[in-house]
Amino acid sequence: MSLSPSPGPTPTPVPGPVRLGDRAQVALRPTESARVTGGFWYERRRVNAEVSIPQGPALLDSVGNLHNLRLAAGTASGEYRGELPFLDTDVTKWLEAASWQWAQTDPKAEFAQAEDVDRMIRLLAEAQQDNGYLQSYYQVVKPGLRFVELRWGHELYCAGHLIQAAVAHHRATGREDLLTVARRFADHIDDTFGPGNPVDGICGHPEIETALVELYRETGGQRYLNLAGYFVDRRGHGLLRDGPPMLGDAHAVPPPSAYCQDHVPVREAETVTGHVVRQLYLLAGAADVAAETGDPQLRAAMERLWESMTTTRTHLTGGLGAHHESEDFGDPYELPNERAYCETCAAVASIQWNWRMALLTGRARYSDLMERTLFNGFLAGVSQDGLRWLYVNPLRVRDGYESHGGDNTARRTPWFTCACCPPNVMRLLASLPHYLASTDADGLQLHQYATGSYAGPTDGGRVTVRVDTDYPWQGRIAVTVDEAGPGEWTLSLRVPQWCEQYTLEVGGTPAEQVAEDGWLRIRGAWRPGDTVVLNLGMEPRLTEADPRVDAVRGCVAVERGPLVHCLEQVDQPGVPGLDDIVLDPAAGLTVRHRPDLLGGVTTVVGSGRLRARPAGGDWWPYRAARRTPTSTPTGTPVELTAIPYYAWANREDGSMRVWLPTS
Ligand SMILES: [Zn+2]
Repeated sequence: MSLSPSPGPTPTPVPGPVRLGDRAQVALRPTESARVTGGFWYERRRVNAEVSIPQGPALLDSVGNLHNLRLAAGTASGEYRGELPFLDTDVTKWLEAASWQWAQTDPKAEFAQAEDVDRMIRLLAEAQQDNGYLQSYYQVVKPGLRFVELRWGHELYCAGHLIQAAVAHHRATGREDLLTVARRFADHIDDTFGPGNPVDGICGHPEIETALVELYRETGGQRYLNLAGYFVDRRGHGLLRDGPPMLGDAHAVPPPSAYCQDHVPVREAETVTGHVVRQLYLLAGAADVAAETGDPQLRAAMERLWESMTTTRTHLTGGLGAHHESEDFGDPYELPNERAYCETCAAVASIQWNWRMALLTGRARYSDLMERTLFNGFLAGVSQDGLRWLYVNPLRVRDGYESHGGDNTARRTPWFTCACCPPNVMRLLASLPHYLASTDADGLQLHQYATGSYAGPTDGGRVTVRVDTDYPWQGRIAVTVDEAGPGEWTLSLRVPQWCEQYTLEVGGTPAEQVAEDGWLRIRGAWRPGDTVVLNLGMEPRLTEADPRVDAVRGCVAVERGPLVHCLEQVDQPGVPGLDDIVLDPAAGLTVRHRPDLLGGVTTVVGSGRLRARPAGGDWWPYRAARRTPTSTPTGTPVELTAIPYYAWANREDGSMRVWLPTS
C-alpha cells in the first residue's frame, strides 16, 4: 500500500486545483504533471498523507460535522452541533484534500480513505434538498430562511467549498457522484441570483467565485463563469450593508461593508482591506475570472492591490492580518509581533491568489511571495507530527505567556471550534506539486524548488525535467532534462528575491547569465540527459524592517535561504527568558546543521547579551530617557541559537521571537 507519492523518474498526470480553459488569456499554465519524489516537501507531504488526512474522518464525526449533515438528511435526530453556519466546509475541504491525495495514489484502488470519501459523498447527496440546496445549518436550524442572511450565512461560501471538493474528486477519480451534487447546487444558485432572478446579492464570505470558475473549467458550463463574474462585479455596491449582525461587526473599522470588501468594487479598490481570508479568496476568484475573460481592468486592479498589500501589510513570514479579534488587515505598516494574527488560512489563500497571479502575468514576484509564505507563515500552521495546529501564527510569544485556550492561542491545538485551518493545510499540501512549475509555448518554468519531476507541452513538443535538491538546507538545484522535442526551448529558473549571489552551470560548464525580473531564462536545443545546476548563495543574513513598522524598530530577524528563523526558549540553555536578549549584529552568524533536531534542521547561531535590567524605579517600568545613546555593550554574553520558524512550538511550551533587539 502506498499513500505517499511513489518515487520514480516517470511522472503520471497529476491533476491540480487550477486547470485553465483553452481560451484563457494567461502567460503561463500549470505543468500537466508534477511529482515531488524526495526532500523537504516530500517528508511534509508524507506526514500529511499518512497522519493528517487519515485522522480527518474520526474528527469530523466526533465534533459533529457529520452529525449535522445526518440531521439535514433526516437520518439522525438531535440538535445542530456547534454554532457556526459553515461547519459543512470542514467536510468538503477534507474531501478535497483526500481527493488530491487519491489522485497521486498508485494504484488508485489502494487509496486508504476511499471508503470514508464514498461515505461522506453519500451523506452530502442524502442531505441535499430536491431543489439542489445544501447547507446543514440552514436546513436544520433555520429551515424557513434561504439566501436572506447573506452577510453571515456563508451559504455561497459552503457551496464554493463543495464545488472545489467535487472538482478535485472528479479530476482524481473520473467519478461524477460528488460533481452531480455540486452542479445541482450551483444550478440552483444560478437560478436564484442575478439579473431576472429573485436575489441580487453576494455572500459575506467570498469563495464561490474561484470555485465557479473551476466548475466552468471542469464542465464547460458557461453559466458558471458568468455567475462568477456577476459575484465579482456586484461586490462593492453595499449589498451587504443591511442584515443581522455578524462576527467582526463589533471590531470592524471602517464600517462592516468594508470588512466583506463590499464598500468599493474590486476594479476600483486601491488597497486590501477587511477580513483577510475574505479578501484573498475574492482576489483568487477575480484572478480566475480575469484569466478566462482577459479583462485588463480586473488584472490591473489586482496588481495594484498586490503591491499595496505586499509593501505595507505583510509580515516577514508572509503572514497576513494585523488584528486577532476581527481577523483583518491593519493600517499600513501596522504589523504587530505578539498579536500578529496571520491565520493559517490566510497563508493558504495568499498562496492560492499568488499562484493565479503568477500564471496570469508570468512575473516572478508572485512566486517569491509564495515561497516565503509556504516555508514560513503556512508551514508553521501544522506540527511536525501532523496532529496539532495553529490558527494564528504570531511572531513572538513573551516570557510568562498565558494561554487562554481557544482558537487564537499561541499553543498548538488538536482541532478548533472554527476548524477552517487544518483541512486547508491538508488540501494545500496534498495538491502542492501543482504549484511548483509551469509551461508556456516557449518552455518550462520552475517556480519553486523541490526534488521531483515536472512535465508539460511546449510548441517544440512535450518536455520533462527532473529536479534534485536538498533545498532549503542547501542552495544547489540540479535540473536534468528527461524528455524534449527536436527544437530549441527555454528552461526558466526563478532566482529568489532574497538571493544576492548565485552561480550557474550548463552542461557542467560555468555560465554567465543574469536574471531578468527574477527569471534566469536559458535557451537551448535541450536533449535528454542535459543538465543545468543553479547554486543559490545560502549565507545567513540579518533583516530589518521599514522604520514605519514601529513594533520591530531597532530589531533584526535572522534568515537563511527562504527560511525565516526564530529563537525558542528551549534552545537557549542558561538564558532565563527571551525578553532580555540582545543580538550583536557585528559578531557574525554560524550555520550548524542538526540532523538530530526537529526532523533535521539547519540552525543559525549568533552572539548576544542578556540585557542588564535598568536600576531604580522598581514599581514603575519607565525612566528618564538618555539624551545620547550609550556605546558600550553591557550584560552577560550569551550564545543564541535560531531554528527555522516553521518548526517552532513542537517541543515544550516556552517563549519565542523572530525579531531580535540589537541595542
Ligand atoms: Zn482558518
